[in-house]
Amino acid sequence: MKAIRRFTVRTVLPEPLRGLEELIHNLRWSWHHETLDLFRSVDPALWEAVGHDPVRLLGEISPERLASLSRDRRFLRRLQNATEELHDYLTAPRWYQGLAERDADVAPPSSIAYFSPEYGIAAALPQYSGGLGILAGDHLKTAGDMGVPIIAVGLLYRHGYFSQSLSPDGWQLEHYPAIDPNGLPLRLLRHADGRPVHITIGMPPGAGRGGDLRAQVWLAQVGRVPQLLLDSDVEENDQATRDITDRLYGGGGDHRLLQEMLLGIGGVRAIRAYCEITGHPAPEVFHTNEGHAGFLGLERIRELVSEHGLTFDEALEAVRAGTVFTTHTPVPAGIDRFPRELIQRYFGGSGEEPDGPSGGARGVWGAGGSDVPVERILELGAETYPGGDRTMFNMAVMGMRLAQRVNGVSELHGRVSREMFGGLWGGFDTWEVPIGSITNGVHAGTWVAREMFDLAAREVPSVVETGRGWDAVRAVPPGDVWRVRRVLRERLVHDTRRRLRESWRARGASEAEVAWIDDVLDPDVLTIGFARRVPSYKRLTLMLRDPDRLRALLLDPERPVQIVIAGKAHPADEGGKRLIQEIVRFSDGEDVRHRIVFLPDYDIDLARVLVQGCDVWLNNPLRPLEASGTSGMKAALNGALNLSIRDGWWDEWYDGQNGWAIPSADGLAAPDRRDALEAAALYDLIQDHVAVTFYDRDSAGLPRRWLEMVEHTIATLGPKVLATRMLRDYVEKYYLPAAASARAMSAGGYEGARSLAAWKQKVAKAWPAVAVEHVETAGDESPHVGARLSVRVVVELGDLDPSDVTVEAVYGRVDESDSLIEPSYLELTGGEPVDGGGRRYVGEVPLDRSGAFGYSVRVLPRHPLLPGRAEMGLVAVPPAPVGMTNGDLR
Ligand SMILES: *Cc1c(COP(=O)(O)O)cnc(C)c1O
Repeated sequence: MKAIRRFTVRTVLPEPLRGLEELIHNLRWSWHHETLDLFRSVDPALWEAVGHDPVRLLGEISPERLASLSRDRRFLRRLQNATEELHDYLTAPRWYQGLAERDADVAPPSSIAYFSPEYGIAAALPQYSGGLGILAGDHLKTAGDMGVPIIAVGLLYRHGYFSQSLSPDGWQLEHYPAIDPNGLPLRLLRHADGRPVHITIGMPPGAGRGGDLRAQVWLAQVGRVPQLLLDSDVEENDQATRDITDRLYGGGGDHRLLQEMLLGIGGVRAIRAYCEITGHPAPEVFHTNEGHAGFLGLERIRELVSEHGLTFDEALEAVRAGTVFTTHTPVPAGIDRFPRELIQRYFGGSGEEPDGPSGGARGVWGAGGSDVPVERILELGAETYPGGDRTMFNMAVMGMRLAQRVNGVSELHGRVSREMFGGLWGGFDTWEVPIGSITNGVHAGTWVAREMFDLAAREVPSVVETGRGWDAVRAVPPGDVWRVRRVLRERLVHDTRRRLRESWRARGASEAEVAWIDDVLDPDVLTIGFARRVPSYKRLTLMLRDPDRLRALLLDPERPVQIVIAGKAHPADEGGKRLIQEIVRFSDGEDVRHRIVFLPDYDIDLARVLVQGCDVWLNNPLRPLEASGTSGMKAALNGALNLSIRDGWWDEWYDGQNGWAIPSADGLAAPDRRDALEAAALYDLIQDHVAVTFYDRDSAGLPRRWLEMVEHTIATLGPKVLATRMLRDYVEKYYLPAAASARAMSAGGYEGARSLAAWKQKVAKAWPAVAVEHVETAGDESPHVGARLSVRVVVELGDLDPSDVTVEAVYGRVDESDSLIEPSYLELTGGEPVDGGGRRYVGEVPLDRSGAFGYSVRVLPRHPLLPGRAEMGLVAVPPAPVGMTNGDLR
């Protein structure tokens, strides 16, 4: 018989053991080895049986064991040390706390909100599907390590993301085990009087829902970072509404939109409630991790309109100034879009709305047409650029319009995003599109094997303690590195056998039929890892392109290779599941099954064993669709070498010595031909370079050249791929400037926002009359390098003032079609009225390079509160480009 309701009964700990509860309730345990050691010692056998889940450990521990522990002096001393150490971790000043002294320009924001649809914190919290979530988790953990005051917002999915198993014929099966939040290290956010906080989002009548959307808020503590997780599974909601947070990326359309409304709108309200209850300072900066959370900007506009009396445009300026938006994918299917009607329905309805925690505003979205007009919302997500679809509402586009600062997640992805979204800043060349990049990073504590840490702590303590002195890694005795690598590879081999045995049993094999698994993989064979989600661009099956060639590599008598593969296909992606089946079928082959393995249920725990145990980390996406990729970074920190297409982070940091670049045939239109070329290159690299180097041993049995590459990888990539570098970049390039902009907008009762909005309106209205009327130059007919070119222009400013604009010369190298390439800018001076109309500007353009040279002139809006020249997407240029090319320029 099935239970109609399930819940978890908590153990009441004896007083001396109360510290355990505190340790468990801070998810820092998930990456803190000493705390995990302590948990293990509570009951080593049970610890294994509960899958290293400390909440379950305490739930299932026997009263006798608890009683004996509470008298165990040694255990109590260790417990006390651990809790004291946690207190120190939570309160000691860190890098961020030193910022105020180092950088007096801008006071660091006292609080930053970080919104993400998924978080990969620990395997016990399956609230992530892949890289986006893992990155968000690493962001929070690292922020805590560095003292960056982030407050995180997400959803609590009752079924999380699925866990994966295989059918007998290798087809992916999905399970959605129910999560009981009471069985997780979470607490409900409550008012001072003990009532749980409820967030309410008004639903329009006729949306087909039983009433408004209500949610409770779970509070997790991730190191120093509080994390608020909204959960619609409360009794006041009807069943359909309760199911809004049922699973991650589950439904489509309506369901997805409601999830995102809860995340963005509900998330801001949850933060307001949290700050009110705890006295936590209100965030000054809001960071949107991918478009899904974009509605947070609308909620903040609504707050400013209803509570501060700003107009929509004024509120938009105030919100944009303090918002950072990170885009994570150039794959169109990865970008959220909704039919316009759906937005119209949920944001245009006029329902009575009960009091919310933020002051009881009536009607969330324009009740009586008064609050935030749905037309303005629709404009924010409109694809108003060539090739855009006017019937769709695009969350990434809205994210960019609601954020003054936007970034991609590697240099290459930044470039690709500038091309992809350049239409939003029409009139500007791609390099001027205001989308920057911060390359992703990974959290060392989570991903670096303990043995590597210990080796580093002994041999290069400065790296571990201060993050500096990476060059010293090159002096670590290679034999020591090799020993650790062997330990980690062997652990992977044993873990693989255990997992494979479980998988075969689940596929219906008997114990007798799986005896061969005892000999799967070899702890001394070159081990290649390949693990990731399975969207088609990641090309899980590229290695199968020529099965005979692959077989030959695996079975090479002298230099064999073994491959461990893992990955989940999205539940709705039949194509991805077919790819998994192809891999599984190949690796089921009796001739190769000891050398190639597919492990089901790729998650944080499996990822850890893999990135730590593999010698080579393989990645072969279709360039440039992998925005960054992070698994290769985790592998590199553990002393693996990357073998990858030059995409994402690897395009930036491959240096010829830290691994291998698989030549990419990108630009080749025929996908089949491209796969064939790239696969052939992959086989060649493995055979002629990777395996040769790995098996080239000296008299002591060490692969000298290999180990040089490993040490070089750690020494040079270490400081780059760590999330501490990433967080520093976010703080310095985005959070601090965004806080400064936000303060400039809000000071004096939002005077800045009001004046900027009014000025933008004036400029937008006047702009059609702005023109470059006349350009003339004076200079040598055949100038030489170092000469100057006098430029005089007459511009028409219409109703604008010279102080509203910048007039500049744009000059530099030109290509065959006279387009300027990465030009320089010179601001022209003047502005005096000319007889007959217009204003004159002049300047001297330096001819600083030989060869083909060109220049043009343009007028841009200028305002002290505009952070970039392309911000408004407005520019006036001469009717035809005024170029000057002269091959004889010297
Ligand atoms: C690191 C990680 C990812 C992301 O890896 P990519 O290289 O971006 O594909 C996905 N899933 C898990 C479980 C991870 O640990």
